[in-house]
Amino acid sequence: MNSSRSELVNKAFTKKAIPLEMPSGLPSDYFGDLVFDRTKMHKYLDADSLQAFLDCIDNGIPLDRKTADAVAAGMKKWALEHGVTHVTHWFQPLTDGTAEKHDSLIDYDRKGGVIETFDGKSLIQQEPDASSFPNGGIRATFEARGYTAWDPTSPVFIQDDTLCIPTVFVSYTGEALDYKTPLKKALKAVSDAALPICRIFDPKVNKVYSYLGWEQEYFLVDEDLYAARPDLMITGRTLMGHASSKNQQLDDHYFGAIPTRVAAFMRELEVAGHKLGIPIKTRHNEVAPNQFELAPIYGEANLANDQNQMVMNLMNTIARKHGFVVLFHEKPFEGINGSGKHNNWSLGTDTGTQLLAPGKDAMGNLQFITFFVNVLAAVQKHNALLKASIASATNAHRLGANEAPPAIVSAFLGRTMTEVLRKLLEVPSDTPIEIAGKKGQSVGLVEIPELFVDNTDRNRTSPFAFTGNRFEFRAVGSSANCAGAVTTISAAVAEQLIDFKLALDKELASGKNVNVAIMDVLKPIIASIIDVICFDGNGYSEEWRREAARRGLDVETRVPEMIKTFSNPASVEMFTKTGVYSLSELEARNEVKWEIYCKKVQIEARVMGRMALNHIIPAALDYKKVLLDNIAGSKEVFPEDYAVVAAFEIETVKKISECVSELQKKVEDMTEARKRANVLENAYAKAMAYHDIAESLFSIRKPLDKLEEMVDNKLWPLPKYRELLFIS
Ligand code: ADP
Ligand code: MG
Repeated sequence: MNSSRSELVNKAFTKKAIPLEMPSGLPSDYFGDLVFDRTKMHKYLDADSLQAFLDCIDNGIPLDRKTADAVAAGMKKWALEHGVTHVTHWFQPLTDGTAEKHDSLIDYDRKGGVIETFDGKSLIQQEPDASSFPNGGIRATFEARGYTAWDPTSPVFIQDDTLCIPTVFVSYTGEALDYKTPLKKALKAVSDAALPICRIFDPKVNKVYSYLGWEQEYFLVDEDLYAARPDLMITGRTLMGHASSKNQQLDDHYFGAIPTRVAAFMRELEVAGHKLGIPIKTRHNEVAPNQFELAPIYGEANLANDQNQMVMNLMNTIARKHGFVVLFHEKPFEGINGSGKHNNWSLGTDTGTQLLAPGKDAMGNLQFITFFVNVLAAVQKHNALLKASIASATNAHRLGANEAPPAIVSAFLGRTMTEVLRKLLEVPSDTPIEIAGKKGQSVGLVEIPELFVDNTDRNRTSPFAFTGNRFEFRAVGSSANCAGAVTTISAAVAEQLIDFKLALDKELASGKNVNVAIMDVLKPIIASIIDVICFDGNGYSEEWRREAARRGLDVETRVPEMIKTFSNPASVEMFTKTGVYSLSELEARNEVKWEIYCKKVQIEARVMGRMALNHIIPAALDYKKVLLDNIAGSKEVFPEDYAVVAAFEIETVKKISECVSELQKKVEDMTEARKRANVLENAYAKAMAYHDIAESLFSIRKPLDKLEEMVDNKLWPLPKYRELLFIS
C-alpha cells in the first residue's frame, strides 16, 4: 500500500484532460433536446391532447385516460426516435439523491413477438416495490406499497436509454414519502395566500410563482486518490487528515483559472445539462482548493429543484468519465471551507411582477414592502424551523463552525432597506414610497434608490440575505435536496400572508383607504421585526450569539434537537393550516431524520474506528519499529551517550506510543458509547446519544492527525490533504 501511494499520486498528477466531442451547433440549438417540452408537445401531440395537456400543466386540470394515452403515445414516439428502450418513474425519496426503477418498454404482441409499449396508465402511476425507502413508520412493511404519480408540471426527459418521468412518491393512505409532494403543496399554499394580496394591486394576476436559483458548490477529487481513502468512499468526507501547509489562505484558488481537467468536466456537464433543458450559466473556482461552483439561471421552484437533482446525478457520472469523484458533502476537509447550496428564492406573478423587488411606482413599492415585510415576519416566527429545515448530520459540520452559515437564522437587509423600514415607522401611513430622484429631493418621503438591485450591499455571514430582488438562503447544505428548505420557507410565508390578509380585511372593513390599511397592518409587524430578526453585523461573532439569544432567536446547535422543532405546536399549526404536512407526516419525517442522523454518525464512527486500528496504528507501529531499531543500533555503537545520539528517536517513540494508547482508549470508549446508544428505542433519544458520539469523533481525530505529522511520509498509508486538494 505504501509504495502505491506515491504511484497513485504520480498517476493522478500526470493525468491529462480528456478530449471532448462537442455537439455541433450552439447551446441554443441543442438546449432542451432531451426534454419533452412545449416544442415537442406541439410536434408530437394532436391539437386536442395538446390543449388538454397544457390545461393540466398550467391550470391543474386532470387528464382523462384517453388523453393520457395520447400524451403517452406522443412521448413514446419521441423517445423511440432517441433510441430509448426503458422508462422509469423518477422520484425523490427521503434519502440522498433520486430513485429510479427502469422497466423495458417491451411487451408481448400476442403474435409470438414483442413490441414497444407505453400507455397513459404507465405514465400516470407506478408501484415500485419500495418497501426499503425511509418512511418513519407510515407504511408498515407488510403493506409496503407506496406509489409514484406523475408530476406533469416537470417535463419528462431522456437519460441515456431511459425515459424519465418526474413523479411524487406517496403511501397508499396518501402521506408524502418524498420531497416533491410537500414542495408542491407548499408552492400552491404560498401562491394561494399571495394571490388575493396581489389582486389588490393588479386584478389581472391569476397565479403567484415561487422562483429558485440554486448555486451548487462541490469538490472534485482524483478518483485514484479517492479510492485509497476508505473514509471518503464510505462517508463522503475525510475523517482524518492533517492540514496542508498551504490551503486557502492565499485566496489564489477563488475565481482562478479553471484547471484543464476540471474545465473539460465542466464543459461536458454543461452540454449534458443544456440538452436536458437546465439553464446552466455560471462556473467558477470556489474559495477552497479543488472546490468549484455551478449555478443556472433561476426558474420555477419545483422544476429548478428537479434540475438540481438532475445536475447532481450528471455530475456524479460525468466526473467519473474525467477521472474525478465529485464530493457533495458539506465538509469533506477539515480546516478549509465546506460546501453549501445557496437558495436564491423569490416570488413573482404570472403577469411578470417580481414581488420582492421595488416596483415602478408608489403602489408597486407598497406591494414590494408588503411582501418583503411579511417574508421577514415569517422568517422571524419560524427561525428555528428554518434552521431545522437545513439541519443534517453532514451540514452540522458547517453550522456554527465559524463559516457560513452561523447556527442562528437572521436576515440581512442592507442599509437601504433597513432605513426604508425605519422611516416607514415614522411617517404617516399614507406616505407614498417613491423611487429616489423621481420627485426631487425629499424631506419626509420614503425613497428606494434607483438601480437598487445592482447596488445592494453584501454580507457573507448572513444565512438569509436580501439581495435586491430575492432572498438568498445560504444555510442549505451542498448535498441537500433544496425542497426541504423551500417547502418550509414557502409554507411559513403562506401562513404569514393568510394572517396578514385577515388583519388587512379588518382594517378595510373599518372604511380605511387601502394604502393606509396596508401600512397600518404592516407598521406593528415592522416594529416587531426590525430589532429582532434583522441583523446586519458579523453573524460569526460570539457577541452575536449572545445578542441573538437575548433577542429570543434560536441558538441551538445540536441537529437532533433542531429537528424536533418540526413537531412543536407552532410548526404543526403552520404546516396543517397551509395543508403542507399532516401531523402524522411531520412525526414520521422526524423519525426518518433522526434515524438517518444516527446511521450517518454510526457509519462514520465505525469507519473511523476501523481506520484507526487497521490503517493508522499499524503505520505508526511500523515507524516505531524503525525508530526502536535505530535506538538499539545507537546503543550498540554509542553505549555511553546513545540517549543523546538517539534523542529524536527516543522522544518520537514516546510520543507515538502516547498517541497510540490515547487512540486505542478513545476508540474503545466510542464503541462503548455506540453500544449504549444502539439499545435506545426512542429515535430522538438515540439521535441525541449519537450527537455526542459525533462530537467525540473530533477528539479521536486529534491523535490521528498528530501521528500523520510524526510518521515517516513513506509509511503513511492514506493520500494526504496536500495530495487530495492540489491535484486536478
Ligand atoms: P452571487 O449570489 O454568487 O453573487 P448571482 O448574483 O449570479 O450570484 O446570483 C445567484 C443566483 O441567483 C443565480 O442562480 C440567479 O439565477 C439567481 N437569481 C437571480 N435573481 C433571482 C430571483 N429573482 N429569484 C431567484 N433567484 C434569482
Ligand atoms: Mg450567492
